[in-house]
Amino acid sequence: MAKRDYYEILGINKSASTAEIKKAYRKKAIEFHPDKNPDDKDAEAKFKEAAEAYEILSDDNKKARYDQYGHQAFENGGGGFGGGGMNMDDIFSQFGDIFGGGGGFGGGFSGFGGGGGQRRVKGSNLRIRVKLTLEEIAIGVEKKVKVKRKVQAPGTTYKTCSTCNGAGQVTRIANTILGRMQTSAPCNVCGGAGQTIDKKPSDADAQGLKVTEETVSIKIPAGVVDGMQLKVSGKGNEAPGNGISGDLIVVIEEETHDKLQREGDNLHYDLYVSFPDAVLGTSKEIDTVTGKVRIKVESGVQSGKILRLRGKGIPSINGYGKGDLLVHVNVWTPKTLNKQQKDFFEAMQEDEHFVPKPESSDKSFFEKVKDMFS
Ligand code: ZN
Repeated sequence: MAKRDYYEILGINKSASTAEIKKAYRKKAIEFHPDKNPDDKDAEAKFKEAAEAYEILSDDNKKARYDQYGHQAFENGGGGFGGGGMNMDDIFSQFGDIFGGGGGFGGGFSGFGGGGGQRRVKGSNLRIRVKLTLEEIAIGVEKKVKVKRKVQAPGTTYKTCSTCNGAGQVTRIANTILGRMQTSAPCNVCGGAGQTIDKKPSDADAQGLKVTEETVSIKIPAGVVDGMQLKVSGKGNEAPGNGISGDLIVVIEEETHDKLQREGDNLHYDLYVSFPDAVLGTSKEIDTVTGKVRIKVESGVQSGKILRLRGKGIPSINGYGKGDLLVHVNVWTPKTLNKQQKDFFEAMQEDEHFVPKPESSDKSFFEKVKDMFS
């Protein structure tokens, strides 16, 4: 099934402000919330769809990528990237932002809506930036990064919440104009987790957590793009009690290469050849992302010629082949000449071999650019 447009899902247009996006999502979340639509698969699907749309559109970075590339921006086989595949825990953790925190000891947890019973508290996500060279991006790399994350402090113990007896919610009987009604709401002592802290060491925070530095190994696939986000599940902050850990969000940063420019999966290289080399032909060593290669420059090469080295670019993140390396030939015209050289070129000015005679193979720059993208 084709994915629906995120703006269409939330019923907004592309110029919607952050506040309007939030408001639209809140409306959909309330409309399709599972507590309001028990056992309604269609409502659940719509609920998830709206949560995913909000996750993308509420994040400036992801929104920009979506606006530019559409759903493709987040489809990459390997999984693990933001976007598709949100689970209910992810969705409920979003609500802290939308509906205001639920208090209790569930940091980042929000006690949304009634019913549903005990919910597992999720620890908050952490974000780090990882700098990669083009060489690393070309082959994929495993990076070890130091992360300061909150973990359950040794010695912390939890006990069943005495207010809700571990149920995570409290039930009240109220007399209303409709008669006696039973209502349930998340327990405000434990935040719906059903547990509270029993004992904790002095160096732990109010949730029984403490910050530790940990080395996390991150597998980065080949072909990642600057600004892309990878998710390492469970390597964010831990949650108290029987809660589940948040995620570590890794933001990719591409370092500038001093010789190669990246354009999608293709790479560009500016090659300068001297006047005599252009006339006589030569071979030149050039940089690629997998080491140096020697290429042949034919005699009589024209400035502006593009030599294409197939497959010497960046592998596609989707796994569909590799880009090319495009070597742009620039003939270096001397700027200063001695007397003898000047005499030589003056003598050549009217020589028929020096008169430009472009052939059809010497395409104009724009025609070459057209070829590159066709
Ligand atoms: Zn409780």
